[in-house]
Amino acid sequence: MNKVTRPDTNEIIRMLSITCPKDIDALYKQAYEVKKQFVGTTVYFRGIVELSNICAKNCYYCGIRRDNPHVERFKLTEEEVIKSALWAYEQHYGSVVLQSGERSDEEFVCFIENTVKALKERTDGRLGITLSLGEQTEETYRRWYTAGAHRYLLRIETSSPELYKKLHPADHDWQARWDCIRTLKKLGYQTGTGVMIGLPYQTLEDLAKDVQFFYDEDIDMIGMGPFIPHADTPLANAIPDYDGDKQLELALKMIAVCRILLQDINIASTTALQALKPDGRELGLLAGANIIMPNITDPQYRANYQLYNGKPCLDENASLCRNCLERRISSIGETIGYDQWGDSPHFTNPVN
Ligand code: SAM
Ligand code: SF4
Repeated sequence: MNKVTRPDTNEIIRMLSITCPKDIDALYKQAYEVKKQFVGTTVYFRGIVELSNICAKNCYYCGIRRDNPHVERFKLTEEEVIKSALWAYEQHYGSVVLQSGERSDEEFVCFIENTVKALKERTDGRLGITLSLGEQTEETYRRWYTAGAHRYLLRIETSSPELYKKLHPADHDWQARWDCIRTLKKLGYQTGTGVMIGLPYQTLEDLAKDVQFFYDEDIDMIGMGPFIPHADTPLANAIPDYDGDKQLELALKMIAVCRILLQDINIASTTALQALKPDGRELGLLAGANIIMPNITDPQYRANYQLYNGKPCLDENASLCRNCLERRISSIGETIGYDQWGDSPHFTNPVN
């Protein structure tokens, strides 16, 4: 249960509307103080393996949507996934995220089940496993949980069903996505969700409702980031005067607001922040985030997993990413929680 009170719409809008640089800085500093108090200044890594860009869905914003013909489709073998994940384990990352386009056929469900089981066996149960594989049936979620996955990330994308409709084809169902989040929680997953920030047609009131959605759903972790257009999608030019700096600022303000108002949850500083500015993820940490998901996918596949234009580190291997991140994190005075799962205190200590 949440001990904090339900965030107020007007208060959130007020915080998100701040424009004076001094006041924005004060907002980030306030968030950082709350972060220090509730989750500390240790950053936890989740090495992310982007295991396939094959997707049955057609979200209007996403570069790997089914109908984008310019993407060369790939899927990693079980051994390739395991190799990357074990590399992360050997680097003391503590946990990994397996992410991909959405598929729900039995071959895929089995593939994930077997891969999760193998990873658990080969690390004596020590590697933490988060899945981010879209909407699935309760039975599938249960199989993957039984296999050893303990966290799941499924962004609601926006808490507004009306806005969701504008961003997806008619057969994509907001209610079904919401049901999935509830099912995940019921099954015992540490459940993460999130939204895109600065979407076409999105208002500050929509974002305020997103924060209330996180509160109402008693969410343990948040992975949210700026919307960034992809040239080969229907929303490529939906924001004619798209301003990356403004998007970044709004995303950082959302992180700060969530930290201040929701306190003890995990918040990811996502790659999309880095796509807008090289030190975007460090700025995310300074605005209240405490999780980073370094890309550990083999570089040969990265170019074909571009959700948006300008994805960073396409040609960097995982070792380079690790060294670069260590430098960046120590430059802001934080430490890395090696060999730890870094569970959200909201999940592990719910009355706190
Ligand atoms: N297919 C799964 C799903 O949709 O839940 C997992 C992978 S999907 C690529 C992960 C996230 O990428 C989505 O939840 C969405 O928020 C984000 N994403 C997709 N296109 C984006 C864009 N153009 N800008 C920012 N984020 C984007
Ligand atoms: Fe597929 Fe996820 Fe992209 Fe939607 S956001 S098209 S479900 S990969």
